[in-house]
Amino acid sequence: MNKTHDVIIIGGGPAGYTAALYSARAGLGTLVLEKLAPGGQMATTLSMENYPGFEEPISGPDLALRMENQARKFGAVVEYDTVTEVVTDGRLKTVRTPNNTYTCKAVILCMGASPKKLGLAGEEQLRGSGVSYCAVCDGALFRGREVAVVGGGDTAAENAIYLSRFCPKVRLIHRRDRLRATKVLQKELFSNKNIEIIWNSVVEELHGQFALEGITVRDLETGSRQKLDVDGLFISVGLTPGTSLVEGKVALDTEGYIITDERMRTNVPGVFAAGDIRSKVLRQVITAASDGAVAAYSAEQYINDTFGS
Ligand SMILES: Cc1cc2nc3c(=O)[nH]c(=O)nc-3n(C[C@H](O)[C@H](O)[C@H](O)COP(=O)(O)OP(=O)(O)OC[C@H]3O[C@@H](n4cnc5c(N)ncnc54)[C@H](O)[C@@H]3O)c2cc1C
Repeated sequence: MNKTHDVIIIGGGPAGYTAALYSARAGLGTLVLEKLAPGGQMATTLSMENYPGFEEPISGPDLALRMENQARKFGAVVEYDTVTEVVTDGRLKTVRTPNNTYTCKAVILCMGASPKKLGLAGEEQLRGSGVSYCAVCDGALFRGREVAVVGGGDTAAENAIYLSRFCPKVRLIHRRDRLRATKVLQKELFSNKNIEIIWNSVVEELHGQFALEGITVRDLETGSRQKLDVDGLFISVGLTPGTSLVEGKVALDTEGYIITDERMRTNVPGVFAAGDIRSKVLRQVITAASDGAVAAYSAEQYINDTFGS
């Protein structure tokens, strides 16, 4: 058993590292546990154009490393280990990895989310070279080109509308004959002359070895196939929140995201959540960082109130 930390942060994405920066800078003993590499989802994009302060695009791995170094500079300790269990009840929280058992006064859950995949051959290889899971992030790279969006919910509809601002032709491919997206979005979609909806259809094949050159779409009713010459495919079939560790321990919304208040408090005292893992409207680096700062501030207040400063 290690010494008791003030704060343990699970996940080293932008939410986790910002929480670590604020927590360590406030003088709290801070440990970050990350299972893979710095940056989380952010580390999978090579060109980020929408993080304030960088006029030229910054690479996700580069920004991730900077965030990690900045947190370390103020005293946060970062260990690369996979958290396998979190015990959330009790005054002190317990966090287990295959190598260690830690205790802490407050825990901040920053395990993020991951985009759902279609499971097509070449999907992983073409990710970042035409296949994207984030229109807000990568859309502007496809200015003036033809693209397709897969999905039928709000995110897919929003992505199609967003892309239609700079792409002359956006095809929205949906497996059913109606959308799940809200009526307001549907109205906007149907009246947008740059958007064509391909109903009852699925993407069956991706073309291109080093960059996406097109897709084959299959009509589920007729079985007919068509090849579309698109440069970008935006897969918007949802995210999977990384909440498996805390299912049944903290309150989740109907989609499995952690419910917090605006101070990033979950329903369990001493347990906070920040970033893509929580129920919120916009999942981006800037909002993850913002959540992380608030969560660390709230954890500091909680520790002072509960354990004395
Ligand atoms: C391809 C792509 C491109 C994107 N581009 C942009 C962009 O240009 N601009 C932008 O603002 N946003 C972009 N985003 C969205 C942005 O990356 C996310 O909103 C942001 O990374 C969320 O940060 P987070 O810290 O909440 O979670 P994540 O980034 O998901 O990080 C979670 C971390 O927790 C770790 N973890 C999970 N479980 C455990 C465990 N049990 N033990 C230890 N560690 C664990 C994971 O390994 C991961 O490192 C993009 C996303 C994707 C997928």
